[in-house]
Amino acid sequence: MGDFNPRTDPEAEHFRTAIIATLGPASWDEPVLEQLIKAGANIFRLNFSHGDEAGHERTLARIRTVASRLGVPIGVLGDLPGPKIRLTEVPGGGFLLEPGQRIEFHRGLASALHGEDGTACLGCTLESIIDDVQVGHHVLIDDGLVRLVAIERGDDMLVCEVEVAGRISSHKGVNLPDTDLDIEMPTDRDRRFAAWAIEHDLDWVAMSFVRSAEDVQSLEAHMRSVAGTQNRPIPIIAKMEVPRAIEHAASIVQEVDAMMVARGDLGVEMDLALVPSIQKHLLAVTRDARIPCIVATQMLQSMIESPVPTRAEASDVANAIFDGADAVMLSGETAVGTWPVEAVSTMHRISCISESTMRSLSISTGGDLEPIADVAPGPLESLVDATWTAALSANARCIVVPSSSGLHARHLSRNEFQLPVLALADDPRAVRRMLLLRGVTPVQVDALPDPAHLVERAESEVLALGWAEAGEMIIIVARDDLVDSGARMIVHRMCGEAGD
Ligand code: PEP
Repeated sequence: MGDFNPRTDPEAEHFRTAIIATLGPASWDEPVLEQLIKAGANIFRLNFSHGDEAGHERTLARIRTVASRLGVPIGVLGDLPGPKIRLTEVPGGGFLLEPGQRIEFHRGLASALHGEDGTACLGCTLESIIDDVQVGHHVLIDDGLVRLVAIERGDDMLVCEVEVAGRISSHKGVNLPDTDLDIEMPTDRDRRFAAWAIEHDLDWVAMSFVRSAEDVQSLEAHMRSVAGTQNRPIPIIAKMEVPRAIEHAASIVQEVDAMMVARGDLGVEMDLALVPSIQKHLLAVTRDARIPCIVATQMLQSMIESPVPTRAEASDVANAIFDGADAVMLSGETAVGTWPVEAVSTMHRISCISESTMRSLSISTGGDLEPIADVAPGPLESLVDATWTAALSANARCIVVPSSSGLHARHLSRNEFQLPVLALADDPRAVRRMLLLRGVTPVQVDALPDPAHLVERAESEVLALGWAEAGEMIIIVARDDLVDSGARMIVHRMCGEAGD
């Protein structure tokens, strides 16, 4: 193994892990949005679990104003809330549930009550909790901090006992990890926001609490009917956060355009100790399926309050990148934290140095994990393998791919940061969607170059970026609809005298 000399200058190389910043009161004003973009954020998440359409519309307008002022592509991801269950009102700022206390969930109860015998009566936004939760099932409140177990079922109530005590307050989240809920997906609220996302030309929708491939198909059918199109109008990201989704990952991955390891709810719905293994598994599943994967939640959690993260958090971001994440996501850190810009710049620095380390130490993505599926390579996969082999053996400086839909760029992005991929697209939407692809830098061009001018155009784009000089090799993947792979590979030496 050679010497270890990681780059410490974040701008020194041109690889790219996407940084997704969730917006909220700490970040949705123009000056902060501008600083977040300058610090390295390239995708913003609108979390539809909070706020209404009018508020998201104002935030979206500000994002677009700032992006166009800075002249950079910025993607927007709309996160559908899914059937997030919450407590109804808990008066008086909340109260403490004691160990062994009897808790009753009552159908239609708008505000919690304290009975004289010490029983607490709670209401919940999902009325069917009373029908679906069985004796022995757990009811978790506030990200699992308070833990109840169901001990009895009545006609219009569910009786639980407190296993792990704690304070509850209004609208805290409720998780039911043992219960198969009879909920139609997407929910009405999901349908409304999916329609809003189409109307406002968002770049992705993320579906929360996906359980199966059928849930994704239902969302797609709804979106097609809203858009009046044959094809899916916006790419769908499956948020993997419940046990059934993990069981069905192999079929869900066939239906979606990307996955998110949504570690927040996942760590409540399943044993926390399983989360790292599930993260590695889903990164391998998505890598096999050649779709992007986002690692989300609590990546730099302590930066909600502190200007520097813990060492463990810095390692978490780097390890997600070493394991093949296309994107790393910030939630509370940028939505409600005190240090949103510092969180993004910290993540950017960790990403750049980790990418550089992968290159200098030739770290292979995903460690020793075996491929999950026995994927038979088709012509496109063979072309991509050949492209990477040629690029490395010719000591090329980069790969250039004109890409109208992003398909070829998506396949080429399965890389380990040995070389940057420059994707040229004429459709601004395709440019924004390619921001999610690991190692791909999408650049908008007025028109995709015709075959006669492709090499010349690729050269000028690469020169403009300073990615290669005269005499150095580049690889171009040229669209060709007449062949099964949809493209052919060109190995090209940049014109002019070396060192000109
Ligand atoms: C998660 O649970 O990790 C997540 C990303 O979803 P949300 O932030 O909507 O809870």
